[in-house]
Amino acid sequence: MDSARKKQLKVLGKAEVARSSAEIRAALKEANPEPYSDKRWGENYKRGTLREKWLKQKSPLLHAKKLEELFVVVPNGSAGWQPHLGGYVQCQRCGSVAPSAVRKRWFYWASCQCGNIQFRCVGPWKKISVANPELLIPVKLIGRG
Ligand SMILES: [Zn+2]
Repeated sequence: MDSARKKQLKVLGKAEVARSSAEIRAALKEANPEPYSDKRWGENYKRGTLREKWLKQKSPLLHAKKLEELFVVVPNGSAGWQPHLGGYVQCQRCGSVAPSAVRKRWFYWASCQCGNIQFRCVGPWKKISVANPELLIPVKLIGRG
């Protein structure tokens, strides 16, 4: 790789970081619109954090209406399903979000609103199916205050 190409990649990398930080800042502002100086900011922050904690513990599959009420959705990096605890993917057809991985549990039976994503876990039997993987994008969920 020549130095001009290295320089070009560095500029592109910096632009990407700036773009994604701006996206995160906008999402945080949407999740908690009060100014820092307002006492409601602290209350909102606490509520948002509790929602994120609940999300981590329960790994619920959320349909669009409930999702909109509780969280702000931010695209999170590259396309595709990268399973990890705490990670989420969104179905672009119906807007539901699903955990990209779930803890071992006796029963987990859920589908996104259009049926593209299906979790069927009963006892030791576990099946996760996705009809159209190209409809999924990884997302980050920020708790609304
Ligand atoms: Zn769906």
